[in-house]
Amino acid sequence: MADDASRLFLAEVRAFARDVVAPEAPAWARGRAVDPALFTRAAGIGLTSIEVPAAFGGLGLSFRAKVEACAILAAVDFGLAMALVNTHNVARRIVLSAPPDLARTLLPDLLSGTASACTALTEPGAGSDAAAMQCRAETVPGGWVLKGEKSWIVNARHARHSIVYAQCGEPGQGAGIAAFLVDLTDPAVTRYPVDSAIPQASIGTGGFRLDRCPVPDERLLLPAGTAFKAILEEINGARIYVAAMCCAMVSAALRIAQSYGETRQTFGKPLNQHASWREKLASCATALAAAWALVETAILATETRGDVRHLAAAAKVNAVGLAQRELPTLLHAMGAEGLRETYPFARHVGAAQIAALTDGSTAMLLDRLGRWDPTPINL
Ligand SMILES: Cc1cc2nc3c(=O)[nH]c(=O)nc-3n(C[C@H](O)[C@H](O)[C@H](O)COP(=O)(O)OP(=O)(O)OC[C@H]3O[C@@H](n4cnc5c(N)ncnc54)[C@H](O)[C@@H]3O)c2cc1C
Repeated sequence: MADDASRLFLAEVRAFARDVVAPEAPAWARGRAVDPALFTRAAGIGLTSIEVPAAFGGLGLSFRAKVEACAILAAVDFGLAMALVNTHNVARRIVLSAPPDLARTLLPDLLSGTASACTALTEPGAGSDAAAMQCRAETVPGGWVLKGEKSWIVNARHARHSIVYAQCGEPGQGAGIAAFLVDLTDPAVTRYPVDSAIPQASIGTGGFRLDRCPVPDERLLLPAGTAFKAILEEINGARIYVAAMCCAMVSAALRIAQSYGETRQTFGKPLNQHASWREKLASCATALAAAWALVETAILATETRGDVRHLAAAAKVNAVGLAQRELPTLLHAMGAEGLRETYPFARHVGAAQIAALTDGSTAMLLDRLGRWDPTPINL
């Protein structure tokens, strides 16, 4: 059950999604950058500080509140939801792993939305096989220098800070990877946008090159030996909110199609009076109910600190597959109208493809799930 503080926060997120995000989203899909003032507004209601403890200026809310906030935003624009939660997650990681003085210096900008942040593992030559990363960290007096390139990173177009994963040991060694908090405004950093026919503006996709970028010792957030394990644990949470975001995109599309079916007439009656039209929506609603239930199970397992690895992976694979399958069907249920940019269908269809890659691609997760027995009762 949500407490009063969460309820109040989520009501504000709903109003923000409806009144601020929805009117802007079509322009982002045409490539227009998000106005920085919108990030400040989002941060103003707490979207970059949800799980950050109150002692550090955050809202101190639960993982569930974060998942629901992500879902509410993604129902309107998946990209913006991803951008905000990625900044949020860096703020949270800073609280957990940075020296307290450094945290208190860096957090105000992130929590006020005047700075954004990203988490960078992927490189041009290493995605699924993250341990094969080429980005190297070498010790120098007082700290480290980082050399390498990161690509396909949420927020990299504008982020001020990045948690960069880099190899300190031999190439290919998971245990040699450490995580550094890098100032992306350093002159040794060159950033670039990454674009595609599926819009990347609101998610802020980009990359950057590090040319012997200096990083002081205090910014080594996760030393070699702990970083890879920490990111794998953190990513379980990300899989659950991405699953919820996919469910939310399908929920939004289903509601619009249901409402359209009440008024659009074909052959002398509303669309929803045609059984074969209704069946498509009914089958979507059934699969959607199952997908939300799996997300809920994964949230509950997180709340009770159970082993969430398989549930998180299954919730994501299932919800991504649902979105990839059902969003085009729902678009078509609207006829040509479904293509209009005033509706989110086309944006969500593209977003489902992105969701299939971020925080563990479907193929990688299926590899793990092949060894999972989800049977809940004693047979
Ligand atoms: C919009 C967007 C935002 C992103 N944001 C971030 C971010 O913020 N931070 C970050 O670090 N990364 C980010 N990524 C990168 C994402 O994590 C990678 O795309 C993902 O890990 C897959 O890596 P790859 O694209 O290099 O594909 P590859 O690793 O080259 O794989 C290609 C395809 O083959 C499949 N495949 C790979 N190996 C196997 C195998 N052994 N068996 C079967 N199939 C296999 C993969 O699933 C994939 O479908 C983002 C990606 C996108 C599209």
